[in-house]
Amino acid sequence: MLKLTDIEKIYQTKTIETVALNRVNLTIGKGEFVSIMGPSGCGKSTLLSIIGLLDEPTSGTVEIDGRPVAAYSDRELAALRNQKIGFVFQSYHLINDLSVLDNVELPLLYRSGVGGKERQQRALAALDKVGLSARTNHFPSQLSGGQRQRVAIARALAGGPELILADEPTGNLDSVMGEEIMDLLLTLNREDGVTIVMVTHDEHQAQKTERVIRFFDGSQVS
Ligand code: ADP
Ligand code: ADP
Repeated sequence: MLKLTDIEKIYQTKTIETVALNRVNLTIGKGEFVSIMGPSGCGKSTLLSIIGLLDEPTSGTVEIDGRPVAAYSDRELAALRNQKIGFVFQSYHLINDLSVLDNVELPLLYRSGVGGKERQQRALAALDKVGLSARTNHFPSQLSGGQRQRVAIARALAGGPELILADEPTGNLDSVMGEEIMDLLLTLNREDGVTIVMVTHDEHQAQKTERVIRFFDGSQVS
């Protein structure tokens, strides 16, 4: 599904040059659940941004479904980003003055060909999937951290993604809620076949995934 070859990412400011990723080679197959570990600053978020087509490498190639990203048109890339890939962040990134349902519908608003009724149906189905059917009219501030992360996962799911990129999805949660979110991700992977790439600092959670990739200082070490 995804192949990274010789990926380098260099952040250049006036005075400093930071090599965030140094010749990274990585293949992620359809249906895999991969975790990425490594100390702070080693390039994990940069890698997720590149995989998620939010940022471009300084050099190297990214291939999606056997085709280099450079060969896709801007329109095709926008469609990939919006439809194939779902993002989940440590800090949820929900909009506080929108209801749970409106938050989950939001990404579908910008998608052509999805009308209001279908939007709502898809959002409700996603909320059902994450066990939050009873909270659709609540606001984020009325939910626990674990529930907020479920809303964020439902928002990612509503778009029907093939790939979910999760940046420390349990980082702000206590161990019980973290475990619940981890179980939810495992279910989505096993039952719905969603490919998942997750950055985590939690060794116990990483061990539950199929493959652990370790980074140090911009390079893959195992
Ligand atoms: P991690 O997610 O593992 O903590 P990051 O990918 O966020 O690591 O960062 C990797 C390195 O790149 C760090 O040294 C960080 O300071 C640097 N970096 C990240 N983003 C930028 C940026 N926008 N400009 C300059 N340097 C950056
Ligand atoms: P943190 O781990 O510091 O709490 P997040 O998990 O919110 O931060 O975000 C992790 C990474 O994703 C950061 O490198 C950040 O720059 C990036 N990021 C955060 N929000 C967005 C967004 N809406 N779109 C794209 N990238 C984002």
